[in-house]
Amino acid sequence: EQNERDSLFIVSDFANKHFQHNLHQHEQGGIGQSYLKQRGLGAHTIRKFELGYSLDEWSNLTDAALKAGYQQEYLEATGLTIVKEEGKKYDRFRGRVMFPIHNVSGRVVGFGARTLKTNDKKSPKYLNSPESEIYHKSNVLYGLFQAKQAIRMQDLCYMVEGYLDVLSLHQGGIENVVASSGTSLTEGQIKLIARYTQNITVLYDGDAAGIKASLRGIDLILENGLNVNVVTFPEGEDPDSYIHKVGDTAFKAYLQEHSQDFISFKTSLYAAEAKGNPVKKAEAIREIVASIAKIPDSIQRTVFFRSCSLIFDIDEQVLISEYNKMQLQGR
Ligand code: ATP
Ligand code: MN
Ligand code: MN
Ligand code: MN
Repeated sequence: EQNERDSLFIVSDFANKHFQHNLHQHEQGGIGQSYLKQRGLGAHTIRKFELGYSLDEWSNLTDAALKAGYQQEYLEATGLTIVKEEGKKYDRFRGRVMFPIHNVSGRVVGFGARTLKTNDKKSPKYLNSPESEIYHKSNVLYGLFQAKQAIRMQDLCYMVEGYLDVLSLHQGGIENVVASSGTSLTEGQIKLIARYTQNITVLYDGDAAGIKASLRGIDLILENGLNVNVVTFPEGEDPDSYIHKVGDTAFKAYLQEHSQDFISFKTSLYAAEAKGNPVKKAEAIREIVASIAKIPDSIQRTVFFRSCSLIFDIDEQVLISEYNKMQLQGR
């Protein structure tokens, strides 16, 4: 209900301010500051995205919130406070850089939090707030609040995997960028983007997981009737590491030069193995037809069948009959 939701927003806002205060004013905040500096983030980006720091103490936030009069019930409901069976209370986020997650209207609904330790196998690299009445992960995009105007202006939305990817690109002047942090891309997130643009370019990490996520993302975007392009990065690079490696200008040029539509992306993905192997080639074509089949608009489908037929030098009618077969099989 409305009252409970309001209370969760209010306590999240308190936590957000507390974490920012820690980063900027507390003596321990210097650790967080130097981490962010080392990651290449400047003061303007840190302020704009309201980054913060959770002290490396058991219950710094919980104690401060209770002392200020916030109710434990709401601290628990947002996942900021964890209560043990014995009633002992402690903070979920400790000794981490804090990334507040805003909804489209700019209210804080949850947090992502990164450990500063580089090689600690015991604690996860990122922790996220749990689902709550104000935080439904599948309907939130990290950075959308800060990106929405640029997305509308450019009529394009870049999708990346991580918080740092959003921040580094934004800082480099590419402001139309969001991340589906904490989940793989969902239909709800695509519908959010569709309020601002019909065009999405996926910039996932240059590793096996990134390629796999791109393939999944492409089909979901097509099913929802939006246009999708893909930019891939060299093995081991993600948008954040790559923009720092090559610089803003070269990065922007790279995006222009390497943006492919989903057919050329899938073609180049399968091309290496398909070469001179008719069985693999047939497999690649079937994969692409399966993606085209997801497009709701029949005119668009026709355009993509033509482009596929040209690339693979195969009769359009063959593709269309393959498509019809898939429809019958309910694929
Ligand atoms: P960094 O550059 O800070 O090392 P990243 O964003 O490049 O992090 P990836 O390993 O590429 O991290 O993962 C992409 C995203 O997936 C992260 O930004 C985070 O949202 C999520 N993620 C990664 N590792 C974890 C984890 N251990 N637990 C929960 N979420 C995670
Ligand atoms: Mn990755
Ligand atoms: Mn990454
Ligand atoms: Mn990274």
